Amino acid sequence: MVAKGGKTDTKKSNAKSAAKLIKMEELSWKQIDDLDRDKTIFFLPISPLEEHGPHLPVGTDLLTSRDSAIEAIKILNKKNPDINCVLLPLVPVGFCKFNTDFPGSISVSSKTVRDIVYGTGSALGNHGFKYLVICTYHMAAGHLKGIYSAMKKLRSKYNMNVCEPWGPYFHNKEVEKREPKLGFDTSKECHAGFRETSLMKYQYPYLVDEGYKNLQSIYRDLTSPRTVGKKFKELGLKQGYVGSPARADADYGRWFFNETVNCYVEAAQKLYNGKKMPDLPRNIKNAMRALFWQ
Ligand SMILES: [Zn+2]
Repeated sequence: MVAKGGKTDTKKSNAKSAAKLIKMEELSWKQIDDLDRDKTIFFLPISPLEEHGPHLPVGTDLLTSRDSAIEAIKILNKKNPDINCVLLPLVPVGFCKFNTDFPGSISVSSKTVRDIVYGTGSALGNHGFKYLVICTYHMAAGHLKGIYSAMKKLRSKYNMNVCEPWGPYFHNKEVEKREPKLGFDTSKECHAGFRETSLMKYQYPYLVDEGYKNLQSIYRDLTSPRTVGKKFKELGLKQGYVGSPARADADYGRWFFNETVNCYVEAAQKLYNGKKMPDLPRNIKNAMRALFWQ
């Protein structure tokens, strides 16, 4: 419920019971101030504009971060009507220096990512808000470094309950563990390959260039130390994708999208109930630590 008192209360309450999506930019400071600090969770979608092969839009991560946050909020509104879920505007920012040799990739430093996430969280923390879910679909260590550093600071300075659910899910290989059997090795589908092409075929079929069907499978181990500091074209990734986009399947895309949504729903509920959150695996934490702030 947006307003705690006053004549508009019943109207707002009805709006909430109809599972209205609360968008931060549509609220006045007064309405924000009226939100119950103990019962409000903010969702911050943040991902860079980044090339996703010759067949997918540069907003692939961006659109997915926002859409899955919206779907998660709709489910939470139904399951937990006592909680206010507030969607912050989509932030088109992230670290993706490694593929800025293609037009459309806009990379900022890990520090900038950290400052934006910390700046947003601290603005909420300064007014006593306690819950923040960061929704990102971009899994690069340099991007996560900024987000996780900001989360650490928000926890220590504001005692804020903050999480980034998709990183632990993705990097702990939960996708591989849970996905339907497909008959090929999906663990090599790193970027704009089978998974993301399937996802976009499900969510935005009109944004997927039909040429995806003719793209050859290309694989590279982007976690290898030999790739550090190198850009995609230097690694022979001339088209900007890693994986097998031609295998894309909208049904898998639906499954994958819903996994993200459920991951956000579960994380928000755990965060709210003070339960232990899944964490990034050690190898990713080490990779984040080894990276310079750039
Ligand atoms: Zn992506």
